[in-house]
Amino acid sequence: MVSRVIPVDPFDLIIFGGTGDLAQRKILPALFRRFCAGQWHEDAQIIAAARANHTAEEFREMVAESLRQHAPRRAQDSRALTRFLLRVDYVPLDAMTAEGWDVLSEKLSPNRVRAFYFSVGPSLFGPLAERVRAHDLATDDTRVVVEKPFGHDLDSARALNATLAAHFDESQIYRIDHYLGKETVQNLMAVRFGNMLFEPLWNSQYVDHIQITVAETVGISGREEYYERAGAMRDMVQNHLMQLLCLIAMEPPAKFDPDAVRDEKLKVIRALDPVEPHHIVRGQFAAGPEGAGYRDCVGNPRSTTESYVALKAHISNWRWAGTPFYLRTGKRLVARSSVINVMFKDAPHSIFGEEAGRHANALSIRLQPNEGITLKVTIKEPGPGGMRLVDVPLDMSFAEALGPENQDPPDAYERLVMDVIRGNQTLFMRGDEVEAAWAWTDPIIAGWLARGDVPKPYDSGSTGPGDAELLMKRDGRRWQGIKP
Ligand code: NAD
Repeated sequence: MVSRVIPVDPFDLIIFGGTGDLAQRKILPALFRRFCAGQWHEDAQIIAAARANHTAEEFREMVAESLRQHAPRRAQDSRALTRFLLRVDYVPLDAMTAEGWDVLSEKLSPNRVRAFYFSVGPSLFGPLAERVRAHDLATDDTRVVVEKPFGHDLDSARALNATLAAHFDESQIYRIDHYLGKETVQNLMAVRFGNMLFEPLWNSQYVDHIQITVAETVGISGREEYYERAGAMRDMVQNHLMQLLCLIAMEPPAKFDPDAVRDEKLKVIRALDPVEPHHIVRGQFAAGPEGAGYRDCVGNPRSTTESYVALKAHISNWRWAGTPFYLRTGKRLVARSSVINVMFKDAPHSIFGEEAGRHANALSIRLQPNEGITLKVTIKEPGPGGMRLVDVPLDMSFAEALGPENQDPPDAYERLVMDVIRGNQTLFMRGDEVEAAWAWTDPIIAGWLARGDVPKPYDSGSTGPGDAELLMKRDGRRWQGIKP
């Protein structure tokens, strides 16, 4: 099954911070892969703008090197690489001064989509937005793309939104949460709303609970300063896990349209109850074979920032009242695995008697690695000797089911950057969604500070602190394993 490539209109994409890590490792390789796939053509251009005083030629060499590292298979096609690099330009420019802006202005083409990608720290969003306006670079067909973090708390998120709103309409602002660009995350909506099978069961009457796990094996290397200020709650739960929770829990939107989808997600966040302090477990990884412990990594022996968090959340609405959502995420865990487990209730009555044991269906949606969906169903154990029941997986690995072309699914950035050009905001967060997520998160963090809460140490390479197991055990449940 070959996926269809629908070409986008000609565009000018201006990447502020084009020499930075994100641009070199994610954005430019994503653009290159879409170029090779024929989604955009020689009529578009990419202009990187950053402080370093490179010539366009020096910058192209830098990009070629990044593509060899981050899009190796396609970068071997030297003709494609040369054609791509011809579309790449560079302007030395400073967000804080007028230097370079006239040069940028001269390079822009009239009458086409203009996307400004702010791949810089959030403190530069305001100055950049101001200068884009002051130099009259914004047209009716202008979009701005901003990267997380969208604030540090509700107040800073509001300030950031206000800064952007002073210069651009909400319909022009694309807040990227790259989790939403993952194939399986979009598949969540396809599975839920494209099949009759699941939706009738998708409520508290049939779903016992839902587990959302985003486990990482990496530590915080290279991000120590940022991470120590953020912690797992701000870095992962407020955005990525919250987005997954919304897609799993939301009502069917009337249509697959940006505002219809985002309205439904917002309703979920607003229906979240405050989290009870005893429904949260925080952890910090200890030293192990993988490296130093968290406190040594950040050079703060008294750090109370969490590198792990597990919590139980409740959504107070008709669909979900009484069905808990257990969320967990952490660094230096046993495996890299992002998975959502929808755990259904036991059958109301077992005709097979006590000895058949308890069996319940479970739907696992794997986001990474090996994207796919598994439905656990109960069958009879083969062989004579009575009716013994056993749970077996109905397994659908997308790579296997969809054929070899889909073994290499597009990176989230490929999808998202093309959606920016197409002007489709469905997979981007709206300002009110971000603020609602902070409004739920802030009191949790404030509670930790007020109580002087100290995270529990956990072994590197484990599944997290033992208290996280207790959080489930107290409710007569248990976490599904974290498997690579
Ligand atoms: P980086 O430090 O590697 O790059 C920053 C870029 O900004 C450089 O190109 C630099 O020249 C440019 N810059 C800095 N000051 C400037 C100024 N005054 N005028 C013009 N350009 C200036 O940062 P990064 O890792 O690429 O991250 C960029 C943004 O994306 C940050 O907000 C970060 O939080 C976010 N982000 C990064 C990643 C990632 O994987 N790197 C992931 C998610 C979000």
